[in-house]
Amino acid sequence: MASTVQFDAIILGAGGAGLMCAAVAGQRGRRVLLVDHAPEAGRKILISGGGRCNFTNLDVAPDRYLSANPHFARSALSRYTATDFIALVDRYKIAWHEKTLGQLFCDGSARQIVAMLLDECAAGGVTLRLGHAIRDITHSDGLFRIDDGAQAATAPALVIATGGPSIPKLGATGFAYDLARKFGLKVVEPRPALVPLTLPQDEALFHSLAGVATPVAARAGDAAFAEAALFTHRGLSGPAILQISSYWRHGEPIGIDFLPGQHGWLVAAKRARPRASLRSVLGGLLPDRLAEALADRIGLTGALDEKRDAVLVEVEQRLADWQFRPNGTEGFAKAEVTVGGISTDGLSSKTMEARKIPGLYVIGEAVDVTGWLGGYNFQWAWASGWAAGQAL
Ligand SMILES: Cc1cc2nc3c(=O)[nH]c(=O)nc-3n(C[C@H](O)[C@H](O)[C@H](O)COP(=O)(O)OP(=O)(O)OC[C@H]3O[C@@H](n4cnc5c(N)ncnc54)[C@H](O)[C@@H]3O)c2cc1C
Repeated sequence: MASTVQFDAIILGAGGAGLMCAAVAGQRGRRVLLVDHAPEAGRKILISGGGRCNFTNLDVAPDRYLSANPHFARSALSRYTATDFIALVDRYKIAWHEKTLGQLFCDGSARQIVAMLLDECAAGGVTLRLGHAIRDITHSDGLFRIDDGAQAATAPALVIATGGPSIPKLGATGFAYDLARKFGLKVVEPRPALVPLTLPQDEALFHSLAGVATPVAARAGDAAFAEAALFTHRGLSGPAILQISSYWRHGEPIGIDFLPGQHGWLVAAKRARPRASLRSVLGGLLPDRLAEALADRIGLTGALDEKRDAVLVEVEQRLADWQFRPNGTEGFAKAEVTVGGISTDGLSSKTMEARKIPGLYVIGEAVDVTGWLGGYNFQWAWASGWAAGQAL
């Protein structure tokens, strides 16, 4: 029979959110147990940002997060800000830089962020149990009890910080959702997000462009992102596409502006170089293979001065809103995050505590709050972890 150890709080999942929550609660004097089935803490932090961890963004704002309740993230994000996390990183003398669009990365390695969070947990006297799958969780008489076969633990507070199902090979699971349902919390349909989109075979021409990247403005519904897009063997990727994938719904088209910010460029080219062809003008504006493929598809041959302006304007418009109909995404295996998750309806936005089950908290990616690409998701992990850590 396994012995039972008592804690003030048990936190399930030693990712960004769980580590932050454990450190904050521990340093507030709580006896904290932090459990993870993976053999090391913070695995997604370690691989994030190409190994340099894009740990926050200077432009964090609630409208850069997707959720069935767009206001939910506001409170936590305003109480633990990017500036707060930067102050922590600076205290540990971890050098960082802004890469682009407010995205902050370590100069060195993402390992520094994990080491910092583990140090913060140690400073709070957190008990860390790695490599242990939880077999059973029960709740009675105001106490949560977990059992991993070797040891049982109880606490009046349980924090679900086991993330979403993206990248299962790193130990990601839908465990948070199973637990939520067990405790009667609703789950908003989880979908892969920040994920490459796949194109059907009749877009084969574009499959042949695998490896070509170009700055675009990508649109899905009301959302638009001006960043790079990349053609892949299976479809489309690159930051603009990853961003738009979070908003895209099956069956919808996405629109790509191949020449963002350029208006009247083809009519102007006709005046400047009347004998030029569409192919040669595009060749000066886009990667050559892409220019070739687009000119082929449009099928406008001959010199520009043989065409009416109205025809050229139509070509400009087509290239400003090229319609792709993705047939899917590359799925959770390739998704950086999950859109959807445990519904915010049943949670306090101030503390992350479940309204109907005192002592149960949900933080990080497990919650139906998903950030844009660019450090927004870690900032949510830190902020929601901090909010719960203050309340435990
Ligand atoms: C390749 C990649 C790159 C990324 N880069 C960035 C970036 O640069 N910037 C950014 O802001 N975001 C990035 N993200 C997103 C970011 O990693 C997540 O949003 C963030 O890690 C979520 O933190 P979390 O603590 O909620 O969940 P996680 O980090 O997923 O942590 C959950 C923990 O729970 C554990 N767990 C799961 N199931 C169980 C179980 N049944 N029992 C016990 N433990 C369990 C897991 O092992 C894991 O340690 C990236 C994601 C990926 C996949």
